[in-house]
Amino acid sequence: MKVGALALQGDFREHLAVVSRLGHDGVEVRTADEVAGVDALIIPGGESTTIGRLATIYGLMDPIRDRIAGGMPVFGTCAGMIFLASGTTGADQPQLGVLDVIVERNAFGRQVESFEADLRITGLSNPMRAVFIRAPWIEKVGADVEVLATVEAPDGGGEHAVVVRQDRILAASFHPELTADDRLHTMLIDLAEER
Ligand code: GLN
Repeated sequence: MKVGALALQGDFREHLAVVSRLGHDGVEVRTADEVAGVDALIIPGGESTTIGRLATIYGLMDPIRDRIAGGMPVFGTCAGMIFLASGTTGADQPQLGVLDVIVERNAFGRQVESFEADLRITGLSNPMRAVFIRAPWIEKVGADVEVLATVEAPDGGGEHAVVVRQDRILAASFHPELTADDRLHTMLIDLAEER
């Protein structure tokens, strides 16, 4: 299986290391041709405004949207989740708009409020250690979006979705590529293998 990571900005190398560890071919994706050549795509964490700006400049917005519309599985983490979403609670920024959620960026606070938690995720038997770095949460979930995990807001403001799935689009607001737990990456590869 050829699994790409969008390699414009952010920690795509860590994602590709996971792909290799799982025995698949991990490739950096920067061009429309490269978008066309992968069986699944990972959009890494980093800075979503930068990823969006560069994807626009490199003409990748429509090629990625078209592949996703054609059923290619995609996994966005943190900034990658923001990039997949249809909107944010803040100012406009380039987004693919393929995942029917509204995200709140930096929802848990600033860099110093980054944290780790053991997260129960629907479909996984044991909790996953989740590293949240200036993470978003999901403020509004569309009708076709399945919530796989939630986290309690630090101010007692209730539970917010942090892992979701809509058909073959998977998104997590934390960084599964920074731990040894590969189960969400495996979920992506399973989606690609089912096709
Ligand atoms: N705060 C970043 C953003 O809004 C996301 C941070 C991350 O990917 N770790 O794009």
